[in-house]
Amino acid sequence: ILQPWLQPFSQFPWHFTGVAVLSLLLGALCCGLVLYRRHSRWQRDTEERLEDSIQTRTFELQVVLNELADKNRILEEQNTLDALSGVRNRAYFDKKFQAELKRSRREKRPLALVMLDIDHFKRINDSYGHLAGDAVIRGVAQRVQDLLKRSSDNVCRYGGEEFALILPNTDAAGVMTLAEQIRHSIAEQPFTTEVAELQVQVSVGCYVATATAEMVSTDYIHAADQALYQAKTAGRNQIKLYPSPPTEAEPTVAEGNPDELKL
Ligand code: GH3
Ligand code: MG
Ligand code: MG
Repeated sequence: ILQPWLQPFSQFPWHFTGVAVLSLLLGALCCGLVLYRRHSRWQRDTEERLEDSIQTRTFELQVVLNELADKNRILEEQNTLDALSGVRNRAYFDKKFQAELKRSRREKRPLALVMLDIDHFKRINDSYGHLAGDAVIRGVAQRVQDLLKRSSDNVCRYGGEEFALILPNTDAAGVMTLAEQIRHSIAEQPFTTEVAELQVQVSVGCYVATATAEMVSTDYIHAADQALYQAKTAGRNQIKLYPSPPTEAEPTVAEGNPDELKL
């Protein structure tokens, strides 16, 4: 007894029905296969597109990150520069000197500090105005910068018309030679300003020592300041190394012993 829905087929011979059913099944299978292959290709294409777009975005992000890192470096660099003179600023000096002090201690190499102050600078301001004074500060800074030979040497504007030079791995003879070149160059060649060609001179105080465990940066600064003070009181336009050479009246203190600095 056939199901009612099968009864219409009962009039066809059985093998005809079988072939028809098989053809239907085969057709359905082919359709399924085609649909499956299309879906797989679509899925593969979508994944490839997605991967491409992720790679492009990652590359773009990397470019932006590199640009940001560059801008950050430039900003950090600008933060270490003095706006008027263009050389390193006081904040940079403080950091750099600490680092060089540690290096001198570690590598047992001499570290030199030079303090340079323009002589009678107030007269420049008073006679030619502050803008001319500014131009002289810029000129002196650039002149000193141009005379430094090693990339590890640094000139920083310490304040007003005073500059500090950090000279790693430099002995007393080296610092005196360089200081004399700087003093001579500044005294010999005038500086161009809007109002006049201005001649200035500088006094220079130097201190050289291989840092010991006890020494701190202020020991160097006080010693170089002391030498600068001696250069000023001795008549300006000259260089003094701390401790100054022994005189009959005033015996010098031992080199490199900060405890004995007379400040
Ligand atoms: P000395 O030989 O003893 O060093 O005399 P000096 O006149 O240079 O003495 P002092 O150091 O007391 O004077 C420095 C002057 O520098 C005082 C200040 O008005 C001036 N000054 C400081 N900073 C600047 C600046 O950025 N621009 C200008 N134009 N002048 C400055
Ligand atoms: Mg001065
Ligand atoms: Mg001064």
